[in-house]
Amino acid sequence: MQNFSIVIHGGAGTIEPSDLTPALEIQYHHALQNALDAGFKILQLNGTALDAVATAVVALEDHILFNAGKGSVFTKNGVHEMDASIMNGSNLAAGAVAGVQYIKNPVLLAKAVMQQTEHVLLSGAGAMDFAKAMQFDFLPDDYFFSEQRYQQWQLVKNENTVALDHNIKTEKKFGTVGAVACDAQGNIAAATSTGGMTNKQYGRIGDTPLIGSGTYANNNTCAVSCTGHGEWFMKAVAAYDVSCLIEYKGLLLQQAVDKVVHEKLVNMGGEGGLIAVNTNADIALAFNSAGMYRGYKNNNGEQLIAIYK
Ligand code: ASP
Repeated sequence: MQNFSIVIHGGAGTIEPSDLTPALEIQYHHALQNALDAGFKILQLNGTALDAVATAVVALEDHILFNAGKGSVFTKNGVHEMDASIMNGSNLAAGAVAGVQYIKNPVLLAKAVMQQTEHVLLSGAGAMDFAKAMQFDFLPDDYFFSEQRYQQWQLVKNENTVALDHNIKTEKKFGTVGAVACDAQGNIAAATSTGGMTNKQYGRIGDTPLIGSGTYANNNTCAVSCTGHGEWFMKAVAAYDVSCLIEYKGLLLQQAVDKVVHEKLVNMGGEGGLIAVNTNADIALAFNSAGMYRGYKNNNGEQLIAIYK
């Protein structure tokens, strides 16, 4: 039988044991487990990797602990602008949205762009008009509000700086979310969703909706979802770089992941991490920050939920 597996992340950053109370740590574990189980169930029922990653990301977007959908960070002018993307490794189909507001699950809008349009990436007002046409629900701003995010923004809003949500020294840390999966047919897919970086400029778009930077999937190589300081992941073309190291240099999945995260990004000063799978259902992940909310599960019963190094 073809093996299958799923990997998820909930963001990387300066996440130390001293940052989380035992109770909050349990909440994170539950939230990650819940998303992992939701995605894995699709794979067990012979569903597609594409549906598995979308389902896992929806579960994470719906949880206030993570910086995606509900609980997204604040921009410099105090609103939530979200980015998301999804890619199918069997046919290189891809969809993405950037700078959208009021959409409960931006990853589903990205999936609709992929499946219902000839385009890959829709942004801002045009993406939201498309959401209306597709009859997506628009939720009021307070659905996305979280007190912790608001306090994080208060700490940096008068500075000319952006911050990875999980690096701001408040009592709680949150994170961008993503998933990669290999299904029982041997197809792979990737999806990523984020509120971006706290105090980002109005209109700023990060790596998350950019195919090749924050998300990539190709059955010939791997599926990748990234989290970290987006500007560096864009300059590194991080997700596609992992794929290229496999395609052109013949590296193994974990070798390619390590090279991008621990060499290329570190040399550039790019903080963060990424998760990856290939069509053998091999799993690889790496991060160069103190922690990354993460989990994986496969059909051989191997599973993990972890936060710190
Ligand atoms: N990569 C995201 C961005 O730059 C942020 C994150 O991963 O937390 O928008």
